[in-house]
Parts: sequence; C-alpha cells; structure tokens
Amino acid sequence: MDRVSEKFLDSLKRHGFEVHYRPGLPREELLSSVENYNVLVFRGRLKIDREVIDRGANLRVLARYGIGLDNVDVEHAVKRGIAVVNAPSASAISVAELAIALMLTVYRRLYEFIHSVKCGEWSKGKYLGRELHGKKLGVIGFGRIGSRVAHYAKAFGMDIMVYDIRDVSEEVSKLGGVQTDLEKLLNEADIVTLHVPLTPLTWHMMNDKTLSMMRDGAVLVNTSRGEVIDTDALLKHVDRLGGVALDVLEQEPPKDEKIWKLVKHPNVVVTPHIGAETVEAMDRIADELVKNILEAVNWL
Ligand code: NAD
Repeated sequence: MDRVSEKFLDSLKRHGFEVHYRPGLPREELLSSVENYNVLVFRGRLKIDREVIDRGANLRVLARYGIGLDNVDVEHAVKRGIAVVNAPSASAISVAELAIALMLTVYRRLYEFIHSVKCGEWSKGKYLGRELHGKKLGVIGFGRIGSRVAHYAKAFGMDIMVYDIRDVSEEVSKLGGVQTDLEKLLNEADIVTLHVPLTPLTWHMMNDKTLSMMRDGAVLVNTSRGEVIDTDALLKHVDRLGGVALDVLEQEPPKDEKIWKLVKHPNVVVTPHIGAETVEAMDRIADELVKNILEAVNWL
C-alpha cells in the first residue's frame, strides 16, 4: 500500500480487512511480498506491471488511490481475473482548482513577486500581470476535470474552446463555448490547459508540430500527465511562449538534465504533482475507493 489517508485505513478495517500499511515500499519488497495480499492499494509511484501482477498469486483487486491507471497493466490484470478499481471522480474539483491557480500564477507572475518580496525586494512595478477576463481558454479533454476548469474559467469571464475526441459540443455550447479541432484551438487560445488521460493517442500529443501551432505569448498548463508533452519539443518552444505551468513532468521526480532544464527555466513554474493533494480530495478518494473495492470483492 502507498501513502493514503487515515480515514481510508480506518474504513477498510471497519469493513473487516486486515491492513498492512507500507507507504514508500520499494519495488523489490513489493515483488517479494505481493503474493501475501488479496488487495493491493497503490498510487502513481510504482509500476504495477506484468511482473508485479504475475507474482501476486492471491491478488483479487488492484486499487488505484486516485484516478490515473497509466502505471497499471490493466489488460494483463483483467486477463488474470484481477479487478482493477480507482476513484475517478474524487479529485476533479482539486485538480480543476489547481489548473485555475496555475493560470493565475503565470498571468499575475505570482511566483516571481512572492519570491522577490521574501528575498527583501519590494518588487512592485517590476512586471505587469494580465487578467484572465476576456481571454480565450483552450481546454484539451472535456471530461470530469476539463469540464470543471471550463466552468470555473467561464466565471472568470474567459471564452471557452474545447478539443475532445468525444462530441461534447452541446455541453460546451451551454458555456457559450465551442468544440473545435486541435489546430484551431492551438492557433487561437491565449491559454491551453491539458486534461486528457495518458493513452497511446495522447502520448506526446504536445510535440514540435502541435506546440508550433500555439501563438507566441500563449500559456500552456498541464495538470494531466507529464508524458502528454514532449519535453524536448517544449524546451524548443518555451522561450516564445508566455509561460508554462506544470503539475506533472515526464519524469517525476526530475532526475535527467533535460527535465531539470525545463524545471529551472524562468518561463516555467512547476508544482510536484499536487493536483489531488487536498484534504477534501483525499477524503473523497477514501469513500469512493472503499466502495469500489467492496463492490469488486463481492462481485469476484
Ligand atoms: P476523464 O476521463 O473524465 O476525461 C478525459 C477526457 O479526455 C474525456 O472527455 C476524453 O474523451 C478526452 N480524451 C481522451 N483521449 C483524447 C484524445 N486523444 N484527444 C482529445 N481528447 C481526449 O478524465 P479526468 O478525470 O478529467 O482526468 C484527466 C487527466 O487528469 C488524466 O490524465 C488524469 O490522469 C489527470 N489527473 C491528474 C491529477 C494530478 O494530480 N495532477 C489528478 C487526477 C487526475
């Protein structure tokens, strides 16, 4: 099990589970002990791949404490008769609020102002910020999180453009927005915010070709998955963009030189994958995941 809330642990125990809480468990220890468990709860840190699944002779449920299942070999698990569950709705509000916070951080240069004042510099007049009001927001992926971001952005007076592989035009038009193709969105948006799952189609969706479609001075926000953006391509375009705000990176935590180059770039702000890290989201994940684990256990 990875780091989870007390509420979740208590709730599992109340439902009769014997819980071994082992946050930060190294992969080697997971491999040597996974056969002892019927339910494995994890977050995004460890790869739950074929090797882990095959060693889990007694596994019945794989439970992702959160949303993203891109670190799980779901197909292999299902073939082995193991249920895979997650908590898909629980963190949408928290991630959407962070996406808006990151837009404001870039537009009002909050990081630079706060840092300079703490360093003893009264930096008023150093920069002029920009307002979200009246700007075009391009939302890529209009699911649970993207649609919320669009609603919040609407309240800020932004114009909404959406790209999604599903037809979401009716819902988007209720916001006074338009569903459009990717190229038009990238050509026109002042801020582009990414809310797609990581799939073979979205891997490096933002690459040299698509980043070239973004206007000079446009802002890119990513709270989805790091691999949706090609880091090399972003490094090529970062200087001409108006700012980049990332909650997720291609490598977390950053180790390689190119990832560090991006993190340290003055035009880039990075938060350490904290989209769902709120008291409320953790509580909701606990409720939703316990319910889904119980359903899976009863169903199997
Ligand atoms: P969702 O499944 O509700 O919505 C995803 C949307 O993307 C859907 O509307 C889908 O049709 C669309 N989509 C899928 N493939 C597409 C493609 N190739 N092109 C265009 N649109 C496509 O997902 P969600 O709950 O809104 O989550 C979105 C992302 O947020 C996921 O990547 C998830 O991993 C990430 N996330 C990040 C954090 C964090 O801590 N930063 C927390 C939770 C979720």
